[in-house]
Amino acid sequence: MATYIPNAIVLHARSQMLELRWTDETKAWLASRTLRAACPCSACEATRIAAKRDTDCMSGPEDEWSPNIDFSAIEPVGHYAIRIVFSDGHDRGIYPWTYLRQLSLQLSECAL
Ligand SMILES: [Zn+2]
Repeated sequence: MATYIPNAIVLHARSQMLELRWTDETKAWLASRTLRAACPCSACEATRIAAKRDTDCMSGPEDEWSPNIDFSAIEPVGHYAIRIVFSDGHDRGIYPWTYLRQLSLQLSECAL
């Protein structure tokens, strides 16, 4: 599998969407609540497993998935990931490019 790296990451503050522009010229828009629900840290993963949720298509009513969560900060982590701090104070999620790419693809398939 090719390594995907975003050319640009744009935070749209008003809509609370993160726009990723990939090197293959595709774009992805990921909402703050989606990224919060898909937080890859071990605590959130354990919560998802306990609740038998997975991140495919964010199954379940949207309001179950962290409503009213905003981005507080986005910080680069080396050359491979970003750390996202959310308005609920959660700051343990480190999102590697491959994970963001995978989320983008899952969500675009769900939209079909
Ligand atoms: Zn987490």
